Amino acid sequence: MNFELTEEQQMIRQAARDFANTELLPGVIERDEKQEFPKELLNKMGQAGFMGMMVSPEYGGSGLDTLSYVLTMEELSKIDASASVIVSVNNSLVCWGLETFGTEEQKKKYLTRLASGEIIGAFCLSEPEAGSDATSQKTTAIDKGDHYVLNGTKNWITNGASADVYLVIAQTDREKGHKGINALIVEKGMEGFELGPKENKLGIRGSDTHSLLFNDVKVPKENRIGEDGFGFKFAMKTLSGGRIGIAAQALGIAAGAYELAKKYSQERKAFGTEICNHQAIAFKLADMHTEIQAARLLVYQAACDKDANRNYDMSGAMAKLYASKVAMETTVEAVQVFGGNGFVKEYHVERLMRDAKITQIYEGTSEIQKIVISRGILDR
Ligand SMILES: Cc1cc2nc3c(=O)[nH]c(=O)nc-3n(C[C@H](O)[C@H](O)[C@H](O)COP(=O)(O)OP(=O)(O)OC[C@H]3O[C@@H](n4cnc5c(N)ncnc54)[C@H](O)[C@@H]3O)c2cc1C
Repeated sequence: MNFELTEEQQMIRQAARDFANTELLPGVIERDEKQEFPKELLNKMGQAGFMGMMVSPEYGGSGLDTLSYVLTMEELSKIDASASVIVSVNNSLVCWGLETFGTEEQKKKYLTRLASGEIIGAFCLSEPEAGSDATSQKTTAIDKGDHYVLNGTKNWITNGASADVYLVIAQTDREKGHKGINALIVEKGMEGFELGPKENKLGIRGSDTHSLLFNDVKVPKENRIGEDGFGFKFAMKTLSGGRIGIAAQALGIAAGAYELAKKYSQERKAFGTEICNHQAIAFKLADMHTEIQAARLLVYQAACDKDANRNYDMSGAMAKLYASKVAMETTVEAVQVFGGNGFVKEYHVERLMRDAKITQIYEGTSEIQKIVISRGILDR
């Protein structure tokens, strides 16, 4: 067992850390407040190579391993989890899905531009009545020979307004159940495709989340990913890897809050001494540090499983389940360490606490992760 990162992985982590501190930190409070993420910043993330990290250089990506991607996610999330979810969706859900299952034409047309950050992508599975139960798709993609006609509504779509390319999951043949579902590539601007309202959220407020409306949208057959009926499997396989990215996001949020709390506890005085000298505070730091390291090992293990072509369904679910719990607990405790200052925006920990919650909800709630893990251990 080797716990050392390679020199390249260490450099990638440092580059992400530098980017987060110089580009993401300024304005992070304002972006959260205004619920916006400027296009220029998105472009800078593309130029820094964050948008297609694992995509092969043949399609304009950096060809890096999952561990390097996870290290980047961790560093970006310490500062701005809204930025990191944009990176996560584009890398793990959109680029990975297209590179692994797309046709050569689809890769040439979409992947190269997605990997460079010239355009960004969205992954559209959830619906008003299909969240955890993703098989209950009400959106339909009716086969009309050379094209599909898409009708329905998608909910909670990250990058909803800012994306140019949308991977949309829809039911073609209801009688076939989840084997009658397809994944289609939909472009912004296709006739009948409308952007619904923007959600006003508790956390990751810089990231735009929208519902999407499809009204008789004609999608060419060549935009289907995989064989007819592959859509549900596509979504599950893609989300399985996506969870590793979200686990890394949770880890970064926890580590960011811990680092702020540790520093503050060494500066703030109460009863004539720095508060870290009070055992109650020192023990909080000890718990945070231990739990974050345990989460980190699970996240890195899941990434290494993926890189080694081992099954990562269970290790990814375990990493997400545990890291998101640690993110929640650590951020709540970090606010406590800051006292009253923890309750106001300028000290960042209240935002991290709000941001942490989503990691227990999206890409499969914690309850759904437990279903995946229990099925894995019981071999079902
Ligand atoms: C900010 C944000 C961004 C998102 N981004 C995207 C995106 O880009 N693309 C996308 O497709 N979706 C996205 N989602 C949707 C997200 O994945 C779903 O919200 C999530 O899967 C939960 O579905 P739901 O909201 O319908 O909750 P429900 O499925 O209604 O669940 C409600 C509660 O019941 C529990 N529950 C449900 N079924 C079971 C069961 N069998 N056993 C035990 N407990 C159960 C859940 O764990 C949860 O606690 C996003 C959501 C948010 C809030």
